Amino acid sequence: MRILVTGGAGLIGSHLIDRLMTQGHEVICLDNFYTGHKRNILKWMEYPNFELLRHDVTEPVRLEVEQIYHLACPTTRVHCQFNSVKTIKTNAIGTLNMLGLAKRVKAKFLLASTGEVYGDPEVHPQSEDYRGNVDPIGIRSCYNEGKRIAETLTFDYHRQNAVKICAARIFNTYGPRMLENDGRVISNLVFQALRNQPLVVYGDGYQTRSFCYVSDLVEGLMRLMNSEYIGPVNLGSPNKCTLLELAQTVQKLVNPSVKIEFAPPLLDDPRHRCPDITRAKAWLNWEPKISLQQGLKLTVESFCSRFDIEQTQQFI
Ligand code: NAD
Ligand code: UDP
Repeated sequence: MRILVTGGAGLIGSHLIDRLMTQGHEVICLDNFYTGHKRNILKWMEYPNFELLRHDVTEPVRLEVEQIYHLACPTTRVHCQFNSVKTIKTNAIGTLNMLGLAKRVKAKFLLASTGEVYGDPEVHPQSEDYRGNVDPIGIRSCYNEGKRIAETLTFDYHRQNAVKICAARIFNTYGPRMLENDGRVISNLVFQALRNQPLVVYGDGYQTRSFCYVSDLVEGLMRLMNSEYIGPVNLGSPNKCTLLELAQTVQKLVNPSVKIEFAPPLLDDPRHRCPDITRAKAWLNWEPKISLQQGLKLTVESFCSRFDIEQTQQFI
């Protein structure tokens, strides 16, 4: 099949491309390299069935493809808020353009939405029926309201134009190829530990998240794309932990001699977020397989080799 992956040079997109290329598909990676990097897809550059397109999804593009994984979007707090208007444009105009493409060439379209569409949820865990508690004018709104409009567009293209669609609501995902300066908690903590700096936890550390390893997430996306279900479907780990527990796990794993410090809480920081994955289990027979311990080890190893850091701790 000929498959387009927008945002293919980023964390999830590049791991998805690895899987699609290994399966022998023809893959087009479209990316503007805002947060993605060429090194993530470098190994495929010489393959005749791989093509790289430097392009911004806010501009229309004409291609012939059979499936579109639409992942292009800044993801982390730091990158979304750096140019919040651009984040909204990417979600709204970018998604509109990719849906227009899907309509023209009759491609199946998968939207990478987010668990952030539930905002600061009042219901735990969050199931797909929950409509959320979202602030339309907060500093995170460019991302979570942006993804809500992306979902609305996707479902309206389906209803109005019979575009074949599906939507995944992705929860916190991590793994090798994360950027060291992206502000995500796992990259921050791992880098602090490797550099012998205190691990900084914002707020009281009792806020919770659940972290899914990237290969598990990619498996879920592919199952959804190739299923008959349109969703939305939550994809993420159902195992929640407090941020303090996460910091302690990183400390134990990477560098037991570093201290944990607390910093003031972030503005608009959701207190708890955890997916109900009943739907993903029933529809896609999917659930994450890699434990947080295993996933963190793989992530730390990859950071060490990327930055040539000698890992002298006990586990590697
Ligand atoms: P990432 O930042 O690593 O990848 C995003 C990619 O999109 C990057 O390569 C970036 O350069 C590209 N991009 C951004 N704006 C673009 C534009 N206007 N035109 C073309 N390319 C553009 O993020 P990720 O973690 O791989 O996330 C991929 C998708 O999954 C995103 O849509 C994100 O919102 C969604 N998601 C991720 C998580 C997570 O925890 N990683 C959670 C929920 C949802
Ligand atoms: N966080 C933290 N230290 C950091 C970065 C983040 O304690 O160095 C906290 C942050 O306040 C939030 C949680 O970790 O409660 C997850 O943050 P992240 O930005 O990774 O993801 P999101 O908030 O989008 O779920």
